[in-house]
Amino acid sequence: MNLKIEKVKESRINQIDFSKLSFGKTFADHMFICEYKDGQWQNPTIKPYAPITLEPSASVFHYGQAVFEGMKAYKDDNGHVFLFRPQENYKRINKSCSRLAMPEFPEEWFDQALRTLVDIDSEWIKPGFGNALYLRPFMIATTAGVQAAPAKNYLFMIITAPVQAYYKGDVKVKIADYYSRAANGGFGFAKAAGNYAGQFFPTQEAANEGYQQVMWTDDATHQFLEEAGTMNLWFRFGDTLVTCPTSERILDGVTRKSIIAVAEKLGIKTEVRPVKVTELIEASEKGELKEAFGCGTAAVISPISGFGYKGKDYSVNRPAELYTDKIKQAILNIQYNKAEDPFGWRVQVK
Ligand SMILES: *Cc1c(COP(=O)(O)O)cnc(C)c1O
Repeated sequence: MNLKIEKVKESRINQIDFSKLSFGKTFADHMFICEYKDGQWQNPTIKPYAPITLEPSASVFHYGQAVFEGMKAYKDDNGHVFLFRPQENYKRINKSCSRLAMPEFPEEWFDQALRTLVDIDSEWIKPGFGNALYLRPFMIATTAGVQAAPAKNYLFMIITAPVQAYYKGDVKVKIADYYSRAANGGFGFAKAAGNYAGQFFPTQEAANEGYQQVMWTDDATHQFLEEAGTMNLWFRFGDTLVTCPTSERILDGVTRKSIIAVAEKLGIKTEVRPVKVTELIEASEKGELKEAFGCGTAAVISPISGFGYKGKDYSVNRPAELYTDKIKQAILNIQYNKAEDPFGWRVQVK
């Protein structure tokens, strides 16, 4: 890849208060942009973060061909910068692309663009647990014209946002008994913009009833639990941690996969199997539901304090010693180069 680099004349970094960042609102100096036309990716460029211009008829606005990724860059106390399992994101965006009839982006280009961008803006990454540069690669269809067909032109871009430790408090979730975020044969496994658009309204409705998120169930029966908001889902029944199997309806999260491996290493028993709504309710009533949480790159782990189902509320009976705390710390230690990385997940940028 012949990467062109245009740097900012003057960094904006001194205008930023890093102690008051709200998640995903502040962007670092540079972005990566690459065009797809005439059947090829071309003009890969790193340049100052700035608005882009598109035709009003650009197909992304009308037919929603848009996919994205979410990852982070971390800094240790010696100023070394690391990515966490980036290969997983390179592969996953291409799975999303192929399901939305979009061209794949070459993994080597993705890797080189991301590392160069992170390196150029590495001052924007502060050390310390929770501080990171959130990386948002995405692809959109840009062909002008409202013809309902896959576009011929695309943009692949990466924008980056400095973020702080992000703790929204424990969440109460509403179990979906009517709405679905994904269906068999659909594209729930893809990180596609449309999956998010479809979630907002049911989530707003849940919020009006006092819940912060929706716990999604399968579209066919609404009896099996699938994801929590935009996170993968975990339960602790007695002393066993359980997560639902991935499927074409569920996003195959990097954090979920990492938790499976880390929990085993910590000697915590894990199971990957379907979980029924009725099992959750019974466990809560018997006091055997000891933890519940969502997991994803943004928060690592987001604890669930209780859930509502058909108008009734249930609680999670949390013991003093939580698996979630141990697992979260173990993952942070790997990400921030505070511990050995027996899995080979940490990738140094420079
Ligand atoms: C991104 C995402 C996740 C979490 O994936 P990570 O790779 O762990 O960040 C889970 N569910 C949905 C629907 C997502 O979009």
